[in-house]
Order: sequence, then C-alpha cells, then structure tokens
Amino acid sequence: MTARRSIGLPDTIRVCLFDLDGVLTRTATVHFAAWKRTFDEFLHRHEPGQAEFSQLDYNRYVDGKHRADGVRGFLESRGITLPEGSPDDPPDAATVWAIATRKNDMVLRELDEHGVEVYPGSVDYLRAVKEAGLATAVVTASANGAKVIAAGGFADLIDERVDGVVAARDGLRGKPEPDTFLAGAKALGVDPAQAVVYEDAISGVQAGRAGRFGYVVGVDRVGQADALKSAGADVVVQDLSELLGSAP
Ligand SMILES: [Mg+2]
Repeated sequence: MTARRSIGLPDTIRVCLFDLDGVLTRTATVHFAAWKRTFDEFLHRHEPGQAEFSQLDYNRYVDGKHRADGVRGFLESRGITLPEGSPDDPPDAATVWAIATRKNDMVLRELDEHGVEVYPGSVDYLRAVKEAGLATAVVTASANGAKVIAAGGFADLIDERVDGVVAARDGLRGKPEPDTFLAGAKALGVDPAQAVVYEDAISGVQAGRAGRFGYVVGVDRVGQADALKSAGADVVVQDLSELLGSAP
C-alpha cells in the first residue's frame, strides 16, 4: 500500500485542504447554537409568527459561508430584507452586520468559556497525513481560525491557514465559490488537481467541485450524506479515521 492509499487518497494528491468547523473541530455545534439564538431572538422581536431557525436552515443557508452572507441568505429565505449596516453597528441594531456581530460575540464567549473540542479521529488522520509526507492547510470562513486552531492544540500539524481574515484582506469570495480553497492550494504550491478538499458543509463541497480539486471528501456530521454526495463529494465519511487504511 502506498503512502497516499494508507490515508484513503488517490496517488495524484500532494496536499490536504481541511475545513475547520465540523471537520477538525466540533465547533459546528457551537456555530449552530449561536446562529439559532441570534436568529430566534431577531425573529421573536421583529417577525413574530415566523418558524424558529432550524438545523435545515443552518445546513442550507449558513454553514460554511462568510458570516454576513449567512445572515443575508437566511433572511432572504424568509422574505426579510434588512439594511446592510456596517461592522461597527451595535449588536442589537436591525442590520445584516449587527446580526453577524451578535452571532460572533456569542461564538467567542462560548469558545472562551468552554474551549474547543477536537474530533480525535481527525487529529489521528492529520498525523497520518503528515507522516505520509503531505502538506496541510486549514481553509475556513471563520474569522477566528487562528484562535480555534491554537485552542484545538493541533497548530503544529497545519502548514498554512486561509481564514476569514485572509479572505477579507485578499478579497476572496466565500464558499460555495472556490476562491479560498484555491488560495490554500496556491499557498502550498500545487495545482487544484493535486489537492484534496475535506468539508462538512454543502457549500464547501460545492466549492471543492467548482474548483476542480483532485478529490473531495464529504464529512457527514448531521445525517446529510446524500446531500453531500449530490453536491459533488467523491466519498462521504462520518469520521476522517474511516479513511485510514482504505483505498480511494
Ligand atoms: Mg464546516
């Protein structure tokens, strides 16, 4: 068995591009809870009678996207239009940016209070990837990428990071556009065809497909394996450790 095959990848793959929340860390649940509280409070106050924010709303409109894109996408699905506002708006204002800020404040508080839980199977897999001689990058919409990686304790296994801060600086479009994954491949000096994308979000798998990456691994944490497959995943696993010792 070649090194690539021992980590479940085609021989052409040289680098691994990992989404963060929901792939390496259990923070997707933190994000879902923060979005839910933020949107439910907003709906309660401004749109009473609308159904609460659901896991399906999260999967469809929010997961994997830049924060403001997530706000716009969900509000649009409910027929609500708000002024854009700006990142400096107070968190209780009725603007897109105020809602985004409110959600981020909740995430930061939760991370400070409870830390970051990592998926043990993902860390085992990261180690195997490094042992096989492949380079790694984290590619995430999160503006808190550096903080989450450090708190998760696996910074030594990550070679490059493309997060929300880098995306804003370089004007990269969010997932489902492939920009951030393409930037990750470029930072590691390879063509997209030589890179594998690991994603738990439908928008992220779509980004992997749109960027013509060599291989796309869907990570199903919430029972949406079929949706990840139809979005373009080459394989869907429930835990990255399933890839260890498996042929692609
Ligand atoms: Mg994710």
